[in-house]
Amino acid sequence: MSFSASVLTLYPEMFPGALGLSLAGRALEAGTWSLETIQIRDFATDRHRTVDDTPAGGGAGMVMRADVLAKAIDHASPEGDARPRLLMSPRGKPLTQARVRELAAGPGAVILCGRFEGVDQRVIDARGLEEVSIGDFILSGGEPAALVLLDAVVRLLPGVMGNAMSGEEESFENGLLEHPHYTRPQEFEGRDIPEVLISGNHKKIAAWRRAESERLTAERRPDLLAAAQPLAK
Ligand code: SAH
Repeated sequence: MSFSASVLTLYPEMFPGALGLSLAGRALEAGTWSLETIQIRDFATDRHRTVDDTPAGGGAGMVMRADVLAKAIDHASPEGDARPRLLMSPRGKPLTQARVRELAAGPGAVILCGRFEGVDQRVIDARGLEEVSIGDFILSGGEPAALVLLDAVVRLLPGVMGNAMSGEEESFENGLLEHPHYTRPQEFEGRDIPEVLISGNHKKIAAWRRAESERLTAERRPDLLAAAQPLAK
C-alpha cells in the first residue's frame, strides 16, 4: 500500500511543483506515493463560487468558510478514511522529524492549505483537523508548507532514498545536529580536510563525528541537547 496524499487548495497548479522532480518525482512516477489535488472552489455553492468571507467581529482580511471547506474535506476524506487530516497553520504544533516518520509509516495524509487570514475555527473542530506548523514565520498560504511536509515524508518512504543509511545519520534522527561534511579536494583555499577523516580509523572517525555533533548542537541548539539519546553502536 503506497502513501496517498490528498491536498485541498485554491491553487492546485502549485502541485506537485518541486515534488515532481528528483527523488520525490521519481517516486511519484513509480507509484511509491500518490498525490491528488482538490480545488476547494469546486465546493462553493453560490454563483460566484465564494470560498471566503469577512471575519466575524471585524478586522482585516478574509476567512475561509467552514461550510465550503467541510464539503471539500468530506469529499477528499469520506468516513472510514484512516488518513490523518492536517491543516497547515502557523498556530499548529511545529513539525518534527518524529511526526514526519509517523506520517511516512501511515497510509497517507489529507492536507488542507489555508489562505487569507486562515480558516473558520468551526471546521477545524468539526472535522478534527490537526494543525501543523513548519516554523515561526508567516507564509502567504499553506501550499509551500504542504510541499515541505510532503518532501520530508516522501524521502522516508521505502525505496525512495538510494542510500537508506543516510536517512538515519541525519540531523535530528538521534536528537543532535549532524557533524560537518568534507569531500575532495584534499586542500581547498588553504583549508585541509580534518586529519582524522583521512586516517582510515573508523572508531576514531565515529568518535570525532559524535563530538562535532555535540559541539554544534550545544552551540546552535542547546534545546535539543537535553533530549539527545546516546548514539547506538
Ligand atoms: N492570520 C494567520 C496567518 C495566515 S497565513 C495567523 O496570524 O496565524 C495564510 C495561510 O498560510 C494559513 O492559513 C496557513 O495555511 C498557511 N501558513 C502560514 N504560515 C504557516 C506556517 N508557518 N506553517 C504552516 N502553514 C502556514
